[in-house]
Amino acid sequence: MQDTLRPDPHAQIKDEVRKLCAKFPGEYWRRLDRERGYPTEFVTALTEAGYLGALIPEEYGGAGLPLSAAAAILETVQSEGCSGAACHAQMYIMGTILRHGTDAQKTAYLPKIATGELRLQAFGVTEPTSGTDTTSLRTFARKEGDHYVVNGQKVWTSRAEHSDLMLLLARTTPRDQIERRTEGLSTFIVDMREVLGKGLTIRPIRTMMNHNTTEIFFDNMVVPAENLVGVEGRGFRYILDGMNAERLLIAAECIGDAKWFLKKATDYARDRQVFGRPIGQNQGIQFPLARAYAQMRAAELMVQAGCAKFEAGETPGEEANMAKMLGADAAWAAAEACIQTFGGFGFAEEYDVERKFRETRLYQVAPISTNLILSYLAEHVLGLPRSY
Ligand SMILES: Cc1cc2nc3c(=O)[nH]c(=O)nc-3n(C[C@H](O)[C@H](O)[C@H](O)COP(=O)(O)OP(=O)(O)OC[C@H]3O[C@@H](n4cnc5c(N)ncnc54)[C@H](O)[C@@H]3O)c2cc1C
Repeated sequence: MQDTLRPDPHAQIKDEVRKLCAKFPGEYWRRLDRERGYPTEFVTALTEAGYLGALIPEEYGGAGLPLSAAAAILETVQSEGCSGAACHAQMYIMGTILRHGTDAQKTAYLPKIATGELRLQAFGVTEPTSGTDTTSLRTFARKEGDHYVVNGQKVWTSRAEHSDLMLLLARTTPRDQIERRTEGLSTFIVDMREVLGKGLTIRPIRTMMNHNTTEIFFDNMVVPAENLVGVEGRGFRYILDGMNAERLLIAAECIGDAKWFLKKATDYARDRQVFGRPIGQNQGIQFPLARAYAQMRAAELMVQAGCAKFEAGETPGEEANMAKMLGADAAWAAAEACIQTFGGFGFAEEYDVERKFRETRLYQVAPISTNLILSYLAEHVLGLPRSY
């Protein structure tokens, strides 16, 4: 299987990432999966090699690479059987500080994020009651002189226990005092080292895969006013601005997953003999793999189209949403075909198939569910009436 169908400007980066990933084989991830541990060594290696700072401009100590390079990094992490979920958020969350932060914030945080001295892995948006309906979130940040006092709760705040900073979206104007539902929300940089145990409580949530996710409680948590990002009340817009990059990067991870499943399954199908011939000779085994392969290639082209638009300074809303959905579907189709190809052995821990199968299922739901993508396309691309 070729790596890509078109000439790949990031082939060299991919080769380097492959070498790094080879130091973190299946046993490493299996152990962490059993223990629900965090891949500290892997994240450190990626950071030290400069990959997590790929999108941070050179003037702030990052690599200043384009989005397509970041996509190539995350795709390769997944296609080599590693897990970008442990650290991918750092790549796209920092975009909010870069685009909307003050010079002082950029200088204080970005260089340290690039070196790994500060980890910006936590993104506090989702709440238990609001769910997908972000603009009805209730966590409230009340301004009191030179600081804000935050009360409320978040859920699914992944990596919070392994991050120094959190990008938080909170309400700053009560919902009944705003004209448009997208107003009245603000974005803050929370230094969790300062407030843990002093207004901030983090509780891990055990999930079907190892994702280090948590729920978070704010009880009169104090955040300095200087940690507000951009203009008060415009936070939702800032978060939306970052979503196209996020969706394209997650789509790239899904493509990496699909490639991993396809390689694993086709190797096995060529090798495994049943009824005196390789199982891969049966069209019942071939066709689901061939279909997943075609889906993966379509998603890959959509990621390339979205990244090209993003890098040209245009807004790739349509492409980013389609890439995320096609990528998640391709990864899931490949996962399903792979576990079926392995038969009983697909369920045995040692082949890694069942672990990756559990992991890749998430992308049908998070960071945005397939239904909401379809809704976006129906309304914003096809011009149908808004459904919610
Ligand atoms: C492991 C994990 C990690 C996560 N990490 C983070 C994180 O780091 N930070 C963060 O902020 N969030 C995070 N999330 C949250 C994630 O973004 C949400 O789970 C996701 O957006 C869906 O929200 P919900 O779970 O509240 O589902 P709900 O909003 O309750 O939706 C439930 C179902 O109903 C469907 N639905 C809802 N409304 C409509 C509609 N109008 N039309 C059609 N279907 C609809 C949805 O598609 C979904 O399938 C994570 C979630 C998980 C599971």
